[in-house]
Amino acid sequence: MNAVDTSSTRLILSFVDELAIVAGADPVELRFRHVKELYVRAVIELEILQVISLKTDLEKREHMKLGFVGLGIMGSALAANLVKAGFEVTVWNRTPDKCVPLAALGANIASSPRETSEVSDIVFAMMATPAAVESVRDGADGIVAGLKPGKGYVDMSTIDVETSRESARLARERGAVFLEAPVAGSRKPAEDGLLTIMAAGDRELYDRSLPALEKMGKKILFLGDVGNGTRMKLANNLVMGVMMAAFAEGIALASASGLDLSQFLEVLDAGALSNPMFRLKGAMVAENDSFPAAFPLKHMQKDLRLALRLVDQVGQPLFTTATVNELFKEALSRGLGDSDFAAVSRVIRK
Ligand code: NAP
Repeated sequence: MNAVDTSSTRLILSFVDELAIVAGADPVELRFRHVKELYVRAVIELEILQVISLKTDLEKREHMKLGFVGLGIMGSALAANLVKAGFEVTVWNRTPDKCVPLAALGANIASSPRETSEVSDIVFAMMATPAAVESVRDGADGIVAGLKPGKGYVDMSTIDVETSRESARLARERGAVFLEAPVAGSRKPAEDGLLTIMAAGDRELYDRSLPALEKMGKKILFLGDVGNGTRMKLANNLVMGVMMAAFAEGIALASASGLDLSQFLEVLDAGALSNPMFRLKGAMVAENDSFPAAFPLKHMQKDLRLALRLVDQVGQPLFTTATVNELFKEALSRGLGDSDFAAVSRVIRK
């Protein structure tokens, strides 16, 4: 911009000085008026540039067609954020009812995972388990069948490295690009677009899908090759599962000892153990009554199981995780799979 071109500015100012002398005016005042005009012009030009870039950003979003397969707790919230952000979104879910609220927001409904990827530039999936990923990915009606060169497939499910690598292989076989992008954060952060996203795979797709990922997450990391996102997510979740078990045991002991549980929660929150999870789930675990699912217990047990499988592959024993996995398995066998993972407290408390 002219305002920062110092050599031409200096030339203009000396010309302004000469003019002032010829006209019998005060050169300082004339210089001041000229610089002010330059400044005002620069501000106007900057504002025009900002409006143009905002418009281009909006146009890009309007022109990028996105698909979303898997409208459970997380998928519904994420797809809704994409629609609200102005993307054209096409959705599919095994249980069709879950598409209705998305359609009310403005999403299109596809008849199969295949149609979802056929009509989209980038198709996202958020599935429960590795088996669920395979069931929407493979076969004549699967996501992969609708891929072709130029398209992208982003799988946000928490699964295992092998399934994720297979998804990448199948996508690339069709000339498409692949990204795994599991997330940390539960229902509320998903609704608020505040998840942590651990992406890995084709960098080109990461860059291309960033405008959409930014509507879902506050912290977005690119971790390199496919598998690293999954490994990062499993390491994160085993900490969460073990923490929840320790939390429930602390509350169980405080309760059995006749202590005031709200005071116990206050003590935890006042020190180094203070964290959003204890704050969010504290009352629920203390009451030990109903556990409406934000993060279903069956998924936490799946993550512990997958982390322990990873253990075998990398040769790193995880003593506490193995025990906590048994605790979650017991909770599953007691029919608590669809409750929030905090319901593991039921197994511990008398
Ligand atoms: P969810 O509410 O149980 O939803 C699971 C989705 O998978 C639903 O769309 C479900 O379809 C679909 N599905 C399950 N089995 C299927 C199959 N065999 N064929 C086709 N579709 C199938 O799970 P969520 O809480 O959204 O979690 C999704 C993923 O994100 C999981 O991997 C979970 O570990 C991970 N995650 C969850 C949270 C959380 O707080 N909830 C946080 C971080 C990561 P239907 O609707 O037809 O059942």
